[in-house]
Amino acid sequence: RVNRDDFLNAMEEVQPAFGAAKEELDHVVENGIIHYSTTVEHILRSGKLFVDQVRTSTRTPLVSVLLHGPPGSGKTALAATIAQASQYPFMKLISPDSMVGFSEAQKVASINKVFSDSNKSPLSVIVVDNVERLLDFTPIGPRFSNVVLQTLMVLLSRRPPKGRRLLIIATSSLRPVLTDLGLSEIFDSELRVPPVSSLRAVDQVLEELELFPSGQARREAIRMLEQAGFGSLDAPEDDTSSRLNVGIKKLLSIVEMARQEPDAVAERLTQVLLGL
Ligand code: ATP
Ligand code: MG
Repeated sequence: RVNRDDFLNAMEEVQPAFGAAKEELDHVVENGIIHYSTTVEHILRSGKLFVDQVRTSTRTPLVSVLLHGPPGSGKTALAATIAQASQYPFMKLISPDSMVGFSEAQKVASINKVFSDSNKSPLSVIVVDNVERLLDFTPIGPRFSNVVLQTLMVLLSRRPPKGRRLLIIATSSLRPVLTDLGLSEIFDSELRVPPVSSLRAVDQVLEELELFPSGQARREAIRMLEQAGFGSLDAPEDDTSSRLNVGIKKLLSIVEMARQEPDAVAERLTQVLLGL
């Protein structure tokens, strides 16, 4: 017999299409954003301006932005955070991770579906994550899917139907390749997501993650890093003389690794960073 509880459970299981899409974004932003530099603030603020522009300007129903930077610099997390903060009725992530094993035709169909679904909503944001992987790009050859490329080219530049507005945020670690393919010029705007390159930023990350039991212990660790040649805590944020160059994604995993050795956290941290 089906009772009222079963009915309510079933209702909970039936997620509206928009709600389900939102969960994918939630998953990507799960670990949160550490505000370790003014560049991070700048990217988030610029993202918000695009969100506001699409929401309010009737002249620009389509805005596309490319977030590019080295592997692990935080592109996906930032793109998803900007998208999610928009609170548009339609928010969707297109990710190669969810298309593993797809044929070209299946990829094209699933990308097309997201864009056509977005047409039903007055305001939409679509994150097109890791464009080169969506294109199956390999530097050997080099090879890529021309069918997916053509699909993206059309979708990235097609104005949404009357009364509909769309923000597209794409990410890539291989901007030069996108340029060669004629894709990067399609974007209205670009934001560079740099790696962590200042000790001050590292200090922020260590503080945020509470790797050390006290500020004193953290300062000692930073001093150790200074002595290892990673620049100075007082150096400006855009200091190019620093040998430090690590994506936030990797830095976070290094921190968690160092945490496993409570007796020698600072040493471990320095060692691993020196070995990069
Ligand atoms: P890949 O090149 O492999 O696609 P990516 O550049 O997309 O990597 P993410 O997958 O976004 O990098 O990984 C960044 C990780 O760092 C995420 O887990 C995110 O939660 C975390 N993070 C913490 N602070 C920041 C920040 N300021 N900006 C971006 N990500 C951050
Ligand atoms: Mg990514």
